[in-house]
Amino acid sequence: MARYVYDFDEPSGGGRELLGGKGIGLAEMTLMGLPVPAGFTITTDACRAYMQTADLPKGLEEEVAEHVRRLEGKTGKRFGDAGDPLLVSVRSGAAVSMPGMMDTILNLGLNDDAVEGLAARTGNRRFAFDSYRRLLQMFGEVVDGIDPHRFEDALSELKAQRGARQDTDLTAEDLEQLVRTYQEIYTTFPAEPTEQLIRAVRAVFDSWETPRAQVYRRANDIPDDLGTAVNVVQMVFGNKGERSGTGVAFTRNPSTGANELYGEFLANAQGEDVVAGIRTPQPVESMAEVLPAAYRQLLETLRRLEERYRDMQDVEFTVEDDRLYMLQTRSAKRTAAAALKAATDMVDEGLISREEAVSRIDPGQLDQLLHPMIDPASAPEPATRGLNASPGAASGAIVFDADAAVARSATGPVILVRFETTPDDIHGMIASQGILTVHGGMTSHAAVVARGMGKPCVAGCDELELQNGIARLAGTELREGDVITIDGGTGNVYIGEVPLVAPQLNDDFETVLRWADDLRRLKVRANADTPDDAARARDFGAEGIGLCRTEHMFFGEERLAVVQEMILADDEPGRRAALERLLPFQQSDFEGIFQAMAGLPVTIRLLDPPLHEFLPSEEQATSDKMRARIRSLREANPMLGTRGCRLGLIFPEIYEMQIRAIARAAKSVGNAAVVEIMHPLVGFPEELRRLRDLTERVWSEEAPDVPRAIGTMIELPRACVRADEIAADADFFSFGTNDLTQTTLGMSRDDAEGKFLARYLEDGVLERNPFEVLDQSGVGDLMRLGVERGRGVKAELKIGICGEHGGEPRSVAFCHGLRLDYVSCSPYRVPVARLAAAQAALAEAGSAQYVAAGG
Ligand code: ADP
Ligand code: MG
Ligand code: MG
Repeated sequence: MARYVYDFDEPSGGGRELLGGKGIGLAEMTLMGLPVPAGFTITTDACRAYMQTADLPKGLEEEVAEHVRRLEGKTGKRFGDAGDPLLVSVRSGAAVSMPGMMDTILNLGLNDDAVEGLAARTGNRRFAFDSYRRLLQMFGEVVDGIDPHRFEDALSELKAQRGARQDTDLTAEDLEQLVRTYQEIYTTFPAEPTEQLIRAVRAVFDSWETPRAQVYRRANDIPDDLGTAVNVVQMVFGNKGERSGTGVAFTRNPSTGANELYGEFLANAQGEDVVAGIRTPQPVESMAEVLPAAYRQLLETLRRLEERYRDMQDVEFTVEDDRLYMLQTRSAKRTAAAALKAATDMVDEGLISREEAVSRIDPGQLDQLLHPMIDPASAPEPATRGLNASPGAASGAIVFDADAAVARSATGPVILVRFETTPDDIHGMIASQGILTVHGGMTSHAAVVARGMGKPCVAGCDELELQNGIARLAGTELREGDVITIDGGTGNVYIGEVPLVAPQLNDDFETVLRWADDLRRLKVRANADTPDDAARARDFGAEGIGLCRTEHMFFGEERLAVVQEMILADDEPGRRAALERLLPFQQSDFEGIFQAMAGLPVTIRLLDPPLHEFLPSEEQATSDKMRARIRSLREANPMLGTRGCRLGLIFPEIYEMQIRAIARAAKSVGNAAVVEIMHPLVGFPEELRRLRDLTERVWSEEAPDVPRAIGTMIELPRACVRADEIAADADFFSFGTNDLTQTTLGMSRDDAEGKFLARYLEDGVLERNPFEVLDQSGVGDLMRLGVERGRGVKAELKIGICGEHGGEPRSVAFCHGLRLDYVSCSPYRVPVARLAAAQAALAEAGSAQYVAAGG
């Protein structure tokens, strides 16, 4: 019969997938001989079985009862005992960490008898009833869906009656009375501990399917069928008095990566109190004076854990009467800057190899470092300051709740402003550019989740007053829609919009990317249309330009009039006359780019959009002739109309001018870039054959001695399928996966995103947006065919990708697998692509498993 339950000190034969992150951590810490309370884990297998049948699998209840008996044996305490009761926590824990998504129940096992036992045994009646009222509230909330405000209001009322400022000011009698009030609020609490336990286990399993958990999984690409494990852990008590307490600690600083202790501790408190921000915790170093022995043991434990996991850890611990207990360890969530610093430090310390360092950085997270910062030159005056909880700066319209964040984010950037956040706010946090809270510390929900998402967050900003949809800040009243700027790197908050600048990349960043460069096979280029973009791309490490679009060069103020003149011309000579005047503009644009990219390849795509894009709307036409021309150029479906190489074949003089401008620029710039001329939207070999002839003819007139390559963008399914015939006239292919996705899926991006595609993603028809993450099995399969057939006739065919997918880590890995020569993406994504390409190479070599930061 299947087995579903393992004690922490029993070999389970399974890892993280079976026991969940929390369970495997508890088991491994137990095995290391660290002080972990006794307990057991109910596996994710049990959760999956539960989800399939909507019931606990057969035999599970008996197995749990058996492990409870063993736990009673180990601890010498009994469930429900009126003399010395066993109490446990029931904690969810999936294979992938989902902070705050699942609910934990503490002090399970208490009832009216057991609470007396606990009071007698500990000689601490206040503590016993404090634990009991916590159980009633948590159990009521999590298992029976009782509105937590009803408990909180009762507590506030009692505190007001007693003139108590903090929970700790309440006496034993007060708490006894509170328990009775709670029992009136929550009348169906099951007194029997085993029933409590089984109902709690079900509740944990159920919580896997809550909407907020689903939203989190979707946002983080966590499969829905992983399921969660349940950990049952003997309670240890941080709320027993001043020689007890609870805290969280990181082996290194999770914001900067510095190798220093970092954490918070709250005396006389239990679990959630630190995270919930009910009282302000002290820095963990404060333990050194009050609890020196436990503190020393904590430091030693952190050292051992980092050595064991060879990665930055974050732990939860509790001290009960001077004794330290470890309750959780996991690979620490960290900012990108911290991930880079810790990785380079650990290589220096000899803890990990360069390959491990490279494989450990989450490429998506690098984005954080590429986020804008407040322009130091603008030196604005902050209105107030909170905790610098997650770095990066953002401006946006204020919203006061998660739904408003989602609604308003459609029209522009928003900053979510809350007293504090809870897991119910996740969808709003996803929709926001930044998060600002009044309450809570560096380990509050808002701070932890924002760091994980790589969003700026300022927490604990207590000078900010929130009331009835109005925020008061430094004497100013702000309402929804008013713009503020937050800087999560400093904690500063500004009223209004503040100028932002791109960040300087630091040494750790350069170091890790240099290591990545040594490991990758794919080259990384950038999509850049201007000399400025090209220069930025080089700064970010681009090894060429994979896509230089030429149409913007037609839009400059003096140019557009000439372009329109060309389009309106009655005949070819008229068009040529106008093109003649455009040529110098184009030539100087190309010269700038070639200079910036000296010695590197530059792929220039000839004019692609339909001509009507250069004309105004019919109402704005300045002449009858223009109006008539606009009408004649109108297309039912411009995406599939007269564009790309079709333009080049129908109006060859346009492409001729562009080729001439490129050739002259290449010739005039001495140490020029390597020129690659790319014809867009080719579907038939004959199209490329004719355009190749045209290109060669013009080139030999202008710059016969300057080398050039002639190729095509592959962005139609037909081009993939007939890649063998097309390759005959191509020196290179570049997959234009934006259009290839549209043409393969038969979806126009503008008509899909935010419309039916949003529904598809919500309803789970599609798992990912194919315009962001390459549709590997559809579009990707066509690419595979294109590569095979193209290289089948021309082994040396150079092949790249220049769609937006070229900077998306999973798509980069796919391109690596297809043995493309390069990926090309926007300049800011170049570092991401460099890292992702190295990780793909490492994964292929099997020399390192991919371990994302956090988890
Ligand atoms: P989360 O995933 O939200 O951190 P946890 O299961 O880790 O949930 O627990 C919530 C809080 O309760 C944490 O602060 C944890 O340290 C504390 N806690 C959990 N189990 C116990 C226990 N057996 N004794 C004391 N505190 C506990
Ligand atoms: Mg925890
Ligand atoms: Mg295209």
